[in-house]
Amino acid sequence: MDVTHIIESLNDAQRQAVTAPSQSMLVLAGAGSGKTRVLVHRIAWMIKTQDLSPQSILAVTFTNKAAAEMRGRIETLLDHPVQGMWVGTFHGLAHRLLRRHAHEAGLPEAFQVIDSDDQLRMIKRLLKALALDEARWPPRQVQGYINAQKEEGRRAQHIAESGDLYQRQMLTLYREYEQICVRSGLVDFAELLLRVHELLRDNEQLLQFYKQRFLHVHVDEFQDTNTIQYAWLRLLTEGKNNLFVVGDDDQSIYGWRGAKIENIFSFQSDYPNHLVVRLEQNYRSTANILNAANALIANNQGRMGKELWTDDSDGEPISLYAAFNEQDEAYFVVERIKKWVELGGLRSEAAILYRSNVQSRLFEERLMSGGIPYRVYGGLRFFERAEIKNALAYLHLIANANNDAAFERVINIPNRGIGPKTIEDLRSVARDERISLWQAASKVVTSGAVTARTVRVLNSFIDVINNVVEQAEGLALYEKVQQVVEHTGLIDFHKKEKGEKGEARVENLQELVNAARQFDYEEDNAEGLNELDLFLAHAALESGETQGDQYDDCVQLMTLHSAKGLEFKLVFIVGVEEGLFPSPRSIEDPGRLEEERRLCYVGITRAMQILYLSYAESRRIYGRDTYPTCSRFIKEIPSEQIQEIRMGATISRPVSVAKSGRSSRLQKTAFQLGQRVSHAKFGEGVVLQVEGEGAQERVQVNFTAVGMKWLMLAYAKLEAIA
Ligand code: ATP
Ligand code: MG
Repeated sequence: MDVTHIIESLNDAQRQAVTAPSQSMLVLAGAGSGKTRVLVHRIAWMIKTQDLSPQSILAVTFTNKAAAEMRGRIETLLDHPVQGMWVGTFHGLAHRLLRRHAHEAGLPEAFQVIDSDDQLRMIKRLLKALALDEARWPPRQVQGYINAQKEEGRRAQHIAESGDLYQRQMLTLYREYEQICVRSGLVDFAELLLRVHELLRDNEQLLQFYKQRFLHVHVDEFQDTNTIQYAWLRLLTEGKNNLFVVGDDDQSIYGWRGAKIENIFSFQSDYPNHLVVRLEQNYRSTANILNAANALIANNQGRMGKELWTDDSDGEPISLYAAFNEQDEAYFVVERIKKWVELGGLRSEAAILYRSNVQSRLFEERLMSGGIPYRVYGGLRFFERAEIKNALAYLHLIANANNDAAFERVINIPNRGIGPKTIEDLRSVARDERISLWQAASKVVTSGAVTARTVRVLNSFIDVINNVVEQAEGLALYEKVQQVVEHTGLIDFHKKEKGEKGEARVENLQELVNAARQFDYEEDNAEGLNELDLFLAHAALESGETQGDQYDDCVQLMTLHSAKGLEFKLVFIVGVEEGLFPSPRSIEDPGRLEEERRLCYVGITRAMQILYLSYAESRRIYGRDTYPTCSRFIKEIPSEQIQEIRMGATISRPVSVAKSGRSSRLQKTAFQLGQRVSHAKFGEGVVLQVEGEGAQERVQVNFTAVGMKWLMLAYAKLEAIA
């Protein structure tokens, strides 16, 4: 059998890892050193040399996108499709197992997955039902508590009550929340993992079945596994010495979500016969980029310590751009992308990475007005948009009318005149009788205990659902979706909304019908689930990674977290400012600060050829004006690797009337040097310099109250005063 092609493109250390005899292995290496590549080649190698069925392979990666890529690359290496191979994310695989074994896992067959947004809403409702003040018990904190417990494998019943009021209250909320989930057949993300762990732990036969099936288990990005994920891997591989993990302690960025870097140490003691392989050559980035990353991460303490070098050329220095404000930053980035494309680059080779999802909007607007296709990964992804979630809620109700989260979401959308009081009454009936809201509504309308008007409005909702259920019967999935958007009144509702927003929402709803039409339902992989249920599960699990494939070649926008494992020729890391990156909360906490620095290391090492870092001298964020300073991370990069750019060479350098006397050009601008101006935020000041032209024209103003500022005329709304 010819297997040379599987190993010929590998260096010695990579080849050692790929061809080692069956045993547990830890590939510990820095970014871009070929860890993922080794993992893929290892799988192909095992299948070929041991003549294995792809069924015997389990591979876990971090995103759906990475999983799809991995599968594709294995198929290319093997030159045939690999049906039956389980490649996916922890959540995706857990979901699959639970579908198969819902009964054993103690779940209803039609259980539904809820995303973190749904979970938060449920918690808010719960707080209300228990008459707890949100200010005192912030819903996000409750959510964090519940998920953290689940990630550690703890059910409410396992947690001892302490004398502490806070802990007691959290525990009560956890317990109540669990009950609602059970009652409505809902499973949140953390629950997926916990359930699967319990399923295998408590079901010896099943565990043995899967242990025998999965001869080789592989995990990418192992540094970011949490306790329950590791426990699950442990169950599947205990005593078998067949766990192959690759990771990089310097890229551990999910500590805030329960990831345990200690799992690397646990692995080392739990699998005593494992082989450790270190890879030291980076194949991804130019020397400048790699040196910057190495210098930055050297500021962290307690690293496992790795060497990373490249024989690539120096490449271009890293460019640093100090924008006047966030608008200018977006403008700058988009101009550079245009240039990249003009010079023959692909849009998809360019990525804009940011610390927080809220930063994406301005870049989206700029790209949109420049007619440049782009795709946002994660964040406000398609399936999270309000109108889509409404339509999905209706679909959920069709699949299972007892879904309380869905019921509450749309009972009064579009407006049917069902007020908070009526909903409150339904909740209390549901709580008292331990029934779903749907059942409560059905009960209330015949009870005679409410007004005729309430009966009428409730019935109007019940009828809508019943009608759609009836009409959707036997239809194809996309026709069902069509039924929902048209016959529940959603489309009409948004059509009546004024302006572009309404239009966009109508378009999005139509896009949902398209998404359903394109949905790939493979009965083989559906674990007995019907198409609608699978579509809904897909919508909940999907992190927007396959949204709107209209253009293949589009600029990539994502958070630094979701960029993990990926690579791009041209990378912009934007908003590199104290208080944004590092994030405000990490600044006071050394542990968190190190995690932020690792995130920055992840960001820098995504770049293959060209890297831009930018920050804004003034930024409006979360509805406030801020005046950030450049991030400490920028200062940690050696200055010889950085070149600072002020508004580029295409724009005339600053002029001052006194020196240049170019008054003719200045006449074109609304402001003369020396002109007194007033600004809504900064108050009054005097124009000292004017620079740039057209949309890029900016002025330097010395404000009485806040001193010197550069402002973009197009945005600053300066007013001349006499
Ligand atoms: P990360 O830590 O970011 O996940 P990684 O260690 O998984 O990175 P890969 O993504 O596997 O690294 O590889 C980085 C790049 O280097 C890829 O483009 C890969 O194809 C290339 N590469 C890796 N090894 C080799 C090699 N031996 N020869 C040529 N190219 C290589
Ligand atoms: Mg990788």
